[in-house]
Amino acid sequence: MENQTFATLALSAPLLRAVEASGYTTPTPVQAQTIPAVLAGHDLMVCAQTGTGKTAAFMLPALQRLGEDGQGKSLRAPRILVLTPTRELAQQVTEAAVTYGKFMRQVRIAVVVGGVSYPQQNRALSQPLDILIATPGRLIDQLDRGRADLSCVELLVLDEADRMLDMGFLEAVERIAKATPATRQTLMFSATLDGDIARLGKRLLREPKLISVDGARERHANIEQRLHFVDDRAHKDRLLDHLLRDTDMNQAIVFTSTKRDADQLAVSLQAQGHAVAALHGDMNQYNRTRTLSGMKQGRIRVLVATDVAARGLDVAGVSHVINYDLPRAPENYVHRIGRTGRAGSKGLALSFAHRTERGLLARIEGF
Ligand code: AMP
Repeated sequence: MENQTFATLALSAPLLRAVEASGYTTPTPVQAQTIPAVLAGHDLMVCAQTGTGKTAAFMLPALQRLGEDGQGKSLRAPRILVLTPTRELAQQVTEAAVTYGKFMRQVRIAVVVGGVSYPQQNRALSQPLDILIATPGRLIDQLDRGRADLSCVELLVLDEADRMLDMGFLEAVERIAKATPATRQTLMFSATLDGDIARLGKRLLREPKLISVDGARERHANIEQRLHFVDDRAHKDRLLDHLLRDTDMNQAIVFTSTKRDADQLAVSLQAQGHAVAALHGDMNQYNRTRTLSGMKQGRIRVLVATDVAARGLDVAGVSHVINYDLPRAPENYVHRIGRTGRAGSKGLALSFAHRTERGLLARIEGF
């Protein structure tokens, strides 16, 4: 596996060119295992998180499938459907499709997510289409209105399936899968393969192959993790201000438990002179997109976020993740700290904990 190159994965020339243009030299473990299995037509259950290169692991073979028909015209209805839990992840998957597909004939992509006007989405859905990238809630909406046609789907990808279940999309995902042909190929990506995910997999996948890449601890080896015990909120605020003034800090994501706390903390950090913005689920799509591009361009140095909003966020400049509040769910700790140390760079993850939170800490450590 060590010496594998993208060329040995039997990807087509336009895709290899795009991979090269992205600066990737070797496939990540999840890519090395997933890409050949997808090309061979298997259904897959892949246990991998963001940061492992999983997006390219499904997008490259998905695009290859479009190219297989040679001059293949776009159909009225999409051949590839990717479901993601959040709008941000849908956006990132879309960017990946554009990046990896840029040397192919034109690839037509539509994105169907909440928070976007219907007329715009309806127009996108009525054009010839290759790939549809959607969050389950809005896609169900469009299905019910008779605007989405899933009868041509050949490949269904469930990205971060565990998260979709956490967010209550189980029924929506099942209904969407039912609206696609039973002959489709199905790929399920998830950070965990616990009972609910396994049960969903049983219903939606046919004789799936199981692919699992190394555990969280190993993957986060490039991320230094530190813990600060704090007395109270004022103590957290002092520590945070100090950390954010450190010249080693390039960009930081600060996690709070609630949307309200995220807003309040952003306001007080701004008052202290930090280039800060909040990111959470109550913001409209325009503001979220603007905040994310501000982060990517470096105009914003500090992002105060909640778990749901920051899931899947991929900003290369993030040097620090600060858990202002500890995550209530231990697996969110792993998702949070994965926002730093992207693509192999070094990252620092700091957590503030109160003495009363020892139980929660132990559960996070156990996880
Ligand atoms: P993902 O797990 O899909 O969110 O990808 C994590 C990051 O790794 C993204 O920033 C990708 O651009 C990057 N990436 C994906 N594949 C490779 C590769 N083979 N080599 C280096 N970086 C990669």
